Amino acid sequence: MRVYITTDLEGVAGVLLDQQVGVGEDHAEYQRARRLLTREVNAAVEGALAGGATEVLVDDGHAVGSNFIFDELHPKARYVMGTARPTWLPGLSEEFDATFFIGCHAMAGTQGAVRDHTMSSAAWHNMWINGKLMGEIGLWACVAGHYGVPCALVSGCAKACEEAAGLVPGIETVETKRGLSRYSAILEPAEKVQSMIRERAEQAVAKAKAIAPYRLDTPVEIRVEYNLTGQADEVTIMPGRERLDARTIAYRGADILDAMRMLF
Ligand SMILES: [Zn+2]
Repeated sequence: MRVYITTDLEGVAGVLLDQQVGVGEDHAEYQRARRLLTREVNAAVEGALAGGATEVLVDDGHAVGSNFIFDELHPKARYVMGTARPTWLPGLSEEFDATFFIGCHAMAGTQGAVRDHTMSSAAWHNMWINGKLMGEIGLWACVAGHYGVPCALVSGCAKACEEAAGLVPGIETVETKRGLSRYSAILEPAEKVQSMIRERAEQAVAKAKAIAPYRLDTPVEIRVEYNLTGQADEVTIMPGRERLDARTIAYRGADILDAMRMLF
């Protein structure tokens, strides 16, 4: 039983503000957020192993992939870190039996979600995959589904959990906070979140087989509506790319990985 865990920082317990997610200057608050993320990762690894996983690979998915505190990571998993990756979710393949998304956030435009965005809050307004409005949770489900891997667990704010549950029936969720606005929330304490992640990760491994992988029809179209016309202007139109309107580009590929390779 192999488990692939991807991660982000915005959905981790206690994380709300720019200085916590490493925007701008390196900040003591960012160092604290990294520690919280690392502990949630360790909790997910522990739960996966307790549930019967024999191999766990964990992806450091936020920003340039250098958020985990390496020497504090669980010794029984392996880790994908660093930037300029050849694919999204590097290392994920048909050989895995379940995938988790720890610290995830809701898609751009979700009211009451903590730090809602899709890929880039500076550039992306909306994304549709085969006509369905999605965010990073959706992208994760589609890429995992490409490999036939079921999405078994997410942790993040209440709206992120809701988004995942709407997409993947039967997925286990851990609510880390309940947004009052984009930058404020009622927070669950860190230790409680970590023990919930451990517990639900164990359950998620046990029930993964009963969860259907998220399958897309092919070929695949990813439509991106940018914030500004100027951002769409910068996209070079070539085979597989079409300008649909002032702000929107369609990226087309034989499958989700192929379509993602076209993305600007
Ligand atoms: Zn993200």
